[in-house]
Amino acid sequence: MSFVEEKLLNLLACPRCGGELAYEGKESRLVCEKGRLFYPIKDGIPVLLIDRAVPLSADESKDFA
Ligand SMILES: [Zn+2]
Repeated sequence: MSFVEEKLLNLLACPRCGGELAYEGKESRLVCEKGRLFYPIKDGIPVLLIDRAVPLSADESKDFA
């Protein structure tokens, strides 16, 4: 993940709620803290589709409470 790519990811918004997305390189995903869900990154391409969003587990989402 280059600096430029990270900058581009910062411009992305959640297609569901328009919230900010946080890039988690370790997990290869973009997390919407507002909606408490995440979008997977497949082959370096964020899958920003509402029907592909995955809810954060109760354990993970408590970090955003
Ligand atoms: Zn959202």
